[in-house]
Amino acid sequence: MIPSFRKLLSEPRSLRTRLSLNIALVVLLTVAVISVVSNVFINRQFERYIIERQKQQTESILSLVNQQYNAASKTWNAEYLHAVGMHALYDGYIVKIYGTGNEMLWDAELCDMSACRQMMRDISRKMQARFPNDQGAFTVNHYDLTQNGQAIATVSIRCFSPYFYSDDDFLFLDSLNLILAGSGLFSLLLAVAVGWLLARRLSNPIRITAERAKRMSTGDYAVRINEKNRISELDELTRSVNQLADSLGKQEALRKRLTADVAHELRTPLTNVATHIEAMIEGVWEPTPARLSSCHEEIGRISKLVSDLENLARMDSDNLKLDKTRVDLLELSQKTLSNFETEIAAKKLTASIDGNRLEVWADSSRIRQVLTNILSNAVKYTRPGGTIRVTLSEARDFALLAVEDDGIGIPPDELPFIFERFYRAEKSRNRLSGGSGIGLAVVKSIVTAHGGTVEAESRVNQGSRFQIVLPKTT
Ligand code: ADP
Repeated sequence: MIPSFRKLLSEPRSLRTRLSLNIALVVLLTVAVISVVSNVFINRQFERYIIERQKQQTESILSLVNQQYNAASKTWNAEYLHAVGMHALYDGYIVKIYGTGNEMLWDAELCDMSACRQMMRDISRKMQARFPNDQGAFTVNHYDLTQNGQAIATVSIRCFSPYFYSDDDFLFLDSLNLILAGSGLFSLLLAVAVGWLLARRLSNPIRITAERAKRMSTGDYAVRINEKNRISELDELTRSVNQLADSLGKQEALRKRLTADVAHELRTPLTNVATHIEAMIEGVWEPTPARLSSCHEEIGRISKLVSDLENLARMDSDNLKLDKTRVDLLELSQKTLSNFETEIAAKKLTASIDGNRLEVWADSSRIRQVLTNILSNAVKYTRPGGTIRVTLSEARDFALLAVEDDGIGIPPDELPFIFERFYRAEKSRNRLSGGSGIGLAVVKSIVTAHGGTVEAESRVNQGSRFQIVLPKTT
């Protein structure tokens, strides 16, 4: 019995069954404990009450007998004595009254022997039936009656000791037990019903979430949980699963685009190089320095893409180890900008740096990579004759570095995605510009690893502003 019950509780079951079972079990235990405790308590109190009541009944019998004595005439009212004795007999007391000379004044057994026997049998049987372990029995007690200090009689009272219950008492106890059992059963049924409803309310959204999550795991990222929930934790869970589906969907779209982009990026220069070399081998083309350098350029594009991919893979290898030293952002910006001198001159751009020495505790080569990526974008996406401005400032424990340009800008619907890897705004435009959509993802990885943030603001045809916030220490 017990192992199978344990098995019932330990086997994996639905939340609804488990909750209902647990609630029913808790309520069952509570009802059982309350019933036992209240039963013991009520019985004990009732026992005390009965003993007290029997004491009062004995006193009342003695007082009534006493009242039947006439001290002046020294006589007894025999008729009333009989009434008192018979009344006591119906209450379960066998009374015998003796005068001062030990003469019999009234005897219940003499009066009605069969009624006395019947009463004793009834009480013994009922008490035995109810309390089989209690050793109750009929016992006799003697009381001396006096009036004005003068002995007038001796009364012997025989009753079931230490106490006995009348039919009314039994009825009262039975009704009480019935009410207790009834209310216990009612609370148990109510608890099971409430538990079942509660369990249903809890398990339904979880079941729906699990089913949608399963569909997501098969690649259906369009699926969403639209059912509203009034339990905040479950509502949070469904919202998180929806967000997860959003981000998985975006990642999937990006992955597909990456595959297409990488394939395209590689195919174009590879086809060019292949046709050029083929033509030269077949003698259709002379291998002139111009043609060879065109092949070289195409190979350069492939190398750039491969090195970008490599760069990102290194960032991803979770252990982006930073070799931190004291770095002056002003000096670093000047050095990095000077690397773009040729491009800047070719596009006739105006580039400037505003700000003073600004030291941060950072990995110099990584921060240089950040600046290179942002500045190369600024140079790439600014039209000839445009302006690029680097600004350095500080606020409390942070260093602020902003790179602004008045270039082509980024459409608002594309702006939230530019830090995602392989994301390129208006793809066709960028293919011409030679971008691969990796630069800003690398920027974000490095800045985040330093405990900083990077944000972009932009307006189409007006320009863009990239702001990096880096903690000065740690
Ligand atoms: P890419 O190698 O294509 O430049 P990035 O990750 O560096 O990749 O940038 C992502 C996209 O953000 C770019 O394709 C470009 O569309 C946009 N972008 C980044 N910087 C600028 C900028 N200064 N002006 C306009 N567009 C920009």
